[in-house]
Amino acid sequence: MVLELLKNVILLIALCWVHGLITRYVDERSPLGKGLSGVLFGGICILGMMVPMTLADGLIFDGRTAVLSMAAFFGGPQVGLIAGAIAGAYRAWLGGVGMLPGLLNVLMPVLMGLLYRRLYRRGRVAFNLPSLLLFAIAVQVLQVLNLTLLPAPKFALFMQDAVWVLFLLLVPLTLFLGLLLKDAHVQRRDRLALLQSEAQLRAITEAVPDLSLVMDEDGRYLKIKSPQTDLLLDGGQGLLGKRLLDVMPVQQAELFMDFIARTLASEQPQTLEYELKTPIGQRMFEARARRMDARFNGKRAVVFMARDITERAEVEREQRIAAIAFETQQGMIVTDAQTRILKVNRAFTTISGYEPQDVIGQSTRMLGSGRQPPEFYQQMWRIINEEGQWQGEIWNRRKSGEIFPEWLSISAVRDKAGRVTNYVASLTDISERKDAEEKIQHLAFYDPLTGLPNRRLLRDRLQQAAALSRRNGHFCALIFLDLDDFKNVNDLYGHQAGDELLCQVAQRLKSTLRELDTVARLGGDEFVIMLEGLEPQPEEAAAQVEHIGSKLMLALREPYRVSEHQLFNSASLGVVLFNDEAHNVDELMQRADLSMYNAKSAGKNALSFYDPLMQEMVSQRLQLEHDMRRGLSEGEFVLYLQPQMNHLGELQGAEALVRWLHPQRGLLAPALFIEIAERSGLIAELDLYILKQGCQLLARWAAQPAFARLSLAVNTSSRLLYKDDFIAQVRRILAETQANPRQLKLEITESLLLSDKHEAALRMQALQSLGIRFSIDDFGTGYSSMAYLQQLPLNQLKIDQSFVRVLPEISSLAIVRAIMALAHSLGLEVIAEGVETQAQWDVLRDNGCQFFQGYLFSQPMAVAAFESKQWHEQPLNAGRVG
Ligand code: C2E
Ligand code: MG
Ligand code: MG
Repeated sequence: MVLELLKNVILLIALCWVHGLITRYVDERSPLGKGLSGVLFGGICILGMMVPMTLADGLIFDGRTAVLSMAAFFGGPQVGLIAGAIAGAYRAWLGGVGMLPGLLNVLMPVLMGLLYRRLYRRGRVAFNLPSLLLFAIAVQVLQVLNLTLLPAPKFALFMQDAVWVLFLLLVPLTLFLGLLLKDAHVQRRDRLALLQSEAQLRAITEAVPDLSLVMDEDGRYLKIKSPQTDLLLDGGQGLLGKRLLDVMPVQQAELFMDFIARTLASEQPQTLEYELKTPIGQRMFEARARRMDARFNGKRAVVFMARDITERAEVEREQRIAAIAFETQQGMIVTDAQTRILKVNRAFTTISGYEPQDVIGQSTRMLGSGRQPPEFYQQMWRIINEEGQWQGEIWNRRKSGEIFPEWLSISAVRDKAGRVTNYVASLTDISERKDAEEKIQHLAFYDPLTGLPNRRLLRDRLQQAAALSRRNGHFCALIFLDLDDFKNVNDLYGHQAGDELLCQVAQRLKSTLRELDTVARLGGDEFVIMLEGLEPQPEEAAAQVEHIGSKLMLALREPYRVSEHQLFNSASLGVVLFNDEAHNVDELMQRADLSMYNAKSAGKNALSFYDPLMQEMVSQRLQLEHDMRRGLSEGEFVLYLQPQMNHLGELQGAEALVRWLHPQRGLLAPALFIEIAERSGLIAELDLYILKQGCQLLARWAAQPAFARLSLAVNTSSRLLYKDDFIAQVRRILAETQANPRQLKLEITESLLLSDKHEAALRMQALQSLGIRFSIDDFGTGYSSMAYLQQLPLNQLKIDQSFVRVLPEISSLAIVRAIMALAHSLGLEVIAEGVETQAQWDVLRDNGCQFFQGYLFSQPMAVAAFESKQWHEQPLNAGRVG
């Protein structure tokens, strides 16, 4: 009997194990799983009931209580009820005396199992050996209680023969089944979890774009997973199971082998960047590998994940290039669409003085200088937004507050939809370029010495002024201003002093004139002034200019302080008025120039207007120059002589003065043609001509006792003195004429000597060595210093007529006396010219003057007249002295 139940128990255990196997592949929580499980448990119970422990007919015992209670516990209500229903149906079909308690013993374990399940789930009881034991005992106690429904003899039989077997076998069966099912349950749960995590893992590995490999320590491909085969070496064909060394060049394989070794040696994941030839070309990868805890075929292995970073690397490379490009010599600013500054480069900081933190987040307006009007910016932004970019010159402000010019170009950056996302501006500081431009401009249009406009700029302004005056009817004036005897300053005090004087003159002119008037320097001591907006009536305009001109002359006559020296100067001004463009710029300049010469010849320190008469004069001059050339070749120039007397009124010599026997105009005095001869250069020829005549005369006189001892003074121009072959010419004339050089006296003006003192002295010495003597003409009107005169081989000073004329006026007398003293100290004789009155003669004689020339004795006269005059008949009162 015990054996029968034991067999039953073993059968049930076996069946429950089979149940575990079958349901392993079904989801126990699905309706299907639950149904299947219920049916299986029901079936197990039927099989158990088919081989029961039979105590009497219809009174069977088997392990159904254990099976059903555990089925209900593990499977829940559905499983329990299905199994219970099947088992119950079969027990009912068996019938017999034990049917009722048998049915109850189907219902009871199901309910008990469910109750235990419920308590367990709520945490009231545990599922362990002791509580399972108690549960099993309780189920069997209830089974025994159910059996009380049996007829008493049967129950007694049971109590007597079977109750202990029941407890002895079914309690352990319940325990065993509980543990078995729990184990199956746990296993199933674990497998499910494993499947889940595997599925998860698979999904994850498939979702990531990375390439994943498992490689063993020999570099063998164990697993390959790639979102696209293109990322694998040779498309991944036949890689699996091969070693790296079999599929790639040694050098590259070694790189990976090193990496694997490094990964295996470390607890931490390792990284590597590498390039690989793939079917879609050379690609760049970033790999991350970690050593695996499991071994494959006894070899250690690593998981290797690699990502294609070719595009990213390209972008990074471009970014690096862009970053370097951003740091150029040009200042760069990147702003957002609202022109808030996002980024600036170092050059920006260098140019503007602003550090990035000063400007980032600020509007670009903070850089504005306020120099451009708002319309400028409106226009600029309109162009940027319409055309995408703008460039031009703009004034901005540095951090220091300094305003500076920059060359700015701005480009708009748009997104795919065409919306502006950023603006990029590059800027170059062009202050230096601008300065250079200005400098060049200044050099091109301004006189470097005085900073005044030069000829070119003057012409420009003149044109504009002419156009303007035509429109508004106001007169303009062009004034040519030439300093009188400026050359002397240069000669006497050096060019530095000359320059200094010119600067002071420029200063005085500017400060005397209005801002809108133009003062220009043409070069040398020539200045040009342009006055605009004068009165529309010519007379009134002329009066205005007259007034301004005299103010200028007055200002220029003030003494100048030039390095220690006090200098005096004056200027001659020539004016031309204009109020239209009828005459071009050159004509105007020429006219003003002519007027200026007119002023000069009118005695300097004067202002002269251009008028039509002057034009006449100019053409006359030109004509004269032409005539002179002819006259020289035709021998129209003749020599006049003016006697020179001693203090007794005795004839001592004569001065040779040229006259022109003009075929139409008659006898012309030097005043009418000497200046023209000087300007045209004819003077040297003329002088030589006169010199030759003079020498011929001297040679002729040598044979006439009345004239043999007379000296002849000949005027010598600077042109001649400095002429290259002058000395040779003089020698030649002397040789040709056989004149005695000791009776020849050359008259040289003071100012003439000053141009090149050294050369003048050399030449004079050379001539002196021939016996020729020298007289300084017009003495007192120049700047000669005593120290200088000492160095020259002089014989005579000739007091200028201007001093003689006003004698015996006291101021003039003082000068005469000073000259006498000077001449005395230098050992020179003195002659006075322009002596017209007896009084003048007397005063001069009283003051020690030895020689005299002037109308008092005779006007210049033709040679024949001179020679025929009875000079010994003394008409004058020289008796006072003798
Ligand atoms: P200069 O050499 O000072 O000559 C003296 C001038 O004074 C002469 O004028 C003469 O006629 C004038 N004169 C003489 N006595 C009197 C007087 O009592 N009262 C006044 N008011 N004048 C008097 P001229 O002949 O008209 O010559 C003018 C100037 O022309 C000369 O001044 C001289 O500088 C220049 N000149 C004349 N002939 C020549 C020449 O052959 N060569 C050069 N280079 N210059 C010459
Ligand atoms: Mg003279
Ligand atoms: Mg003179």
